[in-house]
Amino acid sequence: MTTPMIETDVAIVGAGPAGLFAVFELGMLKLSSVLVDALGEVGGQCAALYPEKPIYDIPAHPALHAGALVAHLEAQIKPFDAPRLLGQRVEALAGHAGAFMLRTDQGATISCRAVVIAAGAGAFGPNRPPLAGLAAYEASGAVQYYVRRREDFRGRHVVIAGGGDSAVDWALALQDVAAEIHVVHRRPKFRAAPETAAQLDDAARAGRVSMVIPYQLHALHGMDGALTGVEVADLDGNTRMLQADRLLPFFGLSMELGPIADWGVDLERHHVRVTPATCETNIPGVFAIGDVATYPGKLKLILQGFSEAAMAAHAIHPIARPGEALHFEYSTTSGVPS
Ligand SMILES: Cc1cc2nc3c(=O)[nH]c(=O)nc-3n(C[C@H](O)[C@H](O)[C@H](O)COP(=O)(O)OP(=O)(O)OC[C@H]3O[C@@H](n4cnc5c(N)ncnc54)[C@H](O)[C@@H]3O)c2cc1C
Repeated sequence: MTTPMIETDVAIVGAGPAGLFAVFELGMLKLSSVLVDALGEVGGQCAALYPEKPIYDIPAHPALHAGALVAHLEAQIKPFDAPRLLGQRVEALAGHAGAFMLRTDQGATISCRAVVIAAGAGAFGPNRPPLAGLAAYEASGAVQYYVRRREDFRGRHVVIAGGGDSAVDWALALQDVAAEIHVVHRRPKFRAAPETAAQLDDAARAGRVSMVIPYQLHALHGMDGALTGVEVADLDGNTRMLQADRLLPFFGLSMELGPIADWGVDLERHHVRVTPATCETNIPGVFAIGDVATYPGKLKLILQGFSEAAMAAHAIHPIARPGEALHFEYSTTSGVPS
């Protein structure tokens, strides 16, 4: 079987907001790029974890749904027509500045002059509750770790487990949609924003949400992936059965850099250390932007990833086009390719 070999100026590992915007910034400098993502769609955390949530700190957008942000980024990079390898994890990196080779777990290879690691939290996945028979309920969709569409929960009996922002936010967001919502948490205090935690208290007092505290998940009941109940236990082992056809456990994400940790880039607590002015790592020609990159004062915000994409693109230009002068131009002057 022949595997695709792609030649490009820059390979971008991760198609979250930072990786998507890197296509634009590189394209504006007439550098070609390829996007690779382990997920089957672009958008990173915005698409996979919270597409229907409004984001309030994207400059010039007072409120923008995460899914809409991804759609806008897609429209913005369309002129550059960057190939995408989706559903493929980049496994191996070899070579040096000006001549790198990357290989994915599907056997695709990319020959490029520079690499941008925009891998966010790495290949992320949910922390799963240790419950017997969980896989069958995951496969049927009875147990889900992300809410893609609120409508999917219309008329459902939903158990939400966890004590952080996601548990509180989704209990509030689904209260008008679901037939019933139980919120299961080990302790009375929630690790959520004080305003939303207060809104949850109000919803509980009004009977729109039932608080099951202090309890934790104990067992799933049902057959062939069809969930009928979630059994919870208190700290003394006393159990209680909650009628449920959907369970949303929100116990955070497990973040794993995965193969990137073996590429020789300097790491600091699972993040890639970069020089702030260029976003270059300790390996010349390998850059890191967005959530995965760290330096003193780093903020894990989408807007910061955008700015890092611009800085990395300018620092990559002399590697990809040695000897060619780069004249700084505003987009209002250069325009974009049509
Ligand atoms: C619920 C929630 C709400 C948030 N709200 C806000 C907000 O209001 N404002 C804000 O600024 N930020 C917010 N964030 C944070 C924001 O989503 C992140 O800062 C942003 O997604 C980081 O973008 P990124 O492109 O760096 O990485 P990500 O979005 O994490 O994307 C990285 C991508 O890289 C891929 N990847 C990783 N390793 C590999 C590999 N080896 N091969 C191929 N692909 C790989 C992953 O599959 C992923 O798709 C929120 C996050 C969450 C979870």
